[in-house]
Amino acid sequence: MQAHKIALAIHGGAGTILKSSMTADKEKAYQSALKIALEQGYQVLENGGSALDAVEVAVCFLEDSPLFNAGKGSVFSAEGRHEMDASIMEGQKLMAGAVCSVEGLANPVRLARRVMEQSDHVMLANKGAEQFAREQGFEFEKAAYFHDEYRFQQWQALRGSDKFQLDHSSKKDEKFGTVGAVALDSTGCLAAATSTGGMTNKKYGRIGDSPIIGAGTYANNTTAAISCTGSGEFFIRGVVAYDVSCLIEYKGLSLKDACREVVHQRLQKIGGDGGLIAVDTQGNIVLDFNTEGMYRGWKTPQGHGIEIYK
Ligand code: ASP
Repeated sequence: MQAHKIALAIHGGAGTILKSSMTADKEKAYQSALKIALEQGYQVLENGGSALDAVEVAVCFLEDSPLFNAGKGSVFSAEGRHEMDASIMEGQKLMAGAVCSVEGLANPVRLARRVMEQSDHVMLANKGAEQFAREQGFEFEKAAYFHDEYRFQQWQALRGSDKFQLDHSSKKDEKFGTVGAVALDSTGCLAAATSTGGMTNKKYGRIGDSPIIGAGTYANNTTAAISCTGSGEFFIRGVVAYDVSCLIEYKGLSLKDACREVVHQRLQKIGGDGGLIAVDTQGNIVLDFNTEGMYRGWKTPQGHGIEIYK
């Protein structure tokens, strides 16, 4: 078997993330959470584990952190609930699993993987997904587990209005967001996972790009693995993650050029803001965004990095 490089990249959301509005403590907290998620995921790869396991481990850690809009730190919906979306995909057989609008689960990405591996379906929603979770032996957390005072105040500012807000709001001191991971393992397999609480004050069962295969998440062993974050409606319309893969497959673009074209041309043309992380079959990593910043980290045998700002 040919030995492949290993590579892992993670994100914790893109948006208006400015150094000027960050305190030293907050910055440290974000950096340390990203570092641990990165290390935990990378360890899986170093031990010969699969890309799927690596992205799941990294995303679970970020879901468990209140700093990010996923799992424990999920934003409040219009009804004051935490309705979470997640997806996962592997690039060999193009297997994928996703859940949307699920409540009470600490790690929606785990359930997405279970959908992929233990059901005949790709995407399960809401009560049905929760029933599947129960049948699979998942435990449910009480609402208090997800309560975060900062998120609650974000919701209070919009509550009762028709406005809904990206976790990366236009207010200069707000940001955070969806989490995701992409990996290449030592067997040459690629995988991607994304998890989110969506948008503050969302209603009507709004679902973003994160659980939609091809929009927020995609993996294909012949091209790349991609996980997105940003204004979900635009990422759905742009079929962003799949578009990156297509530009590599059909047009022969490098990972870097494909990401650049999608994030800075196609997405911006329709008004979308956000970013993505991607890794290709050679272990090249791209972390690109058209916002002020994106919480992100990467690691390969050649080096590693954690960054927040542009
Ligand atoms: N893309 C996510 C959504 O629209 C939000 C985010 O990335 O923070 O649900």
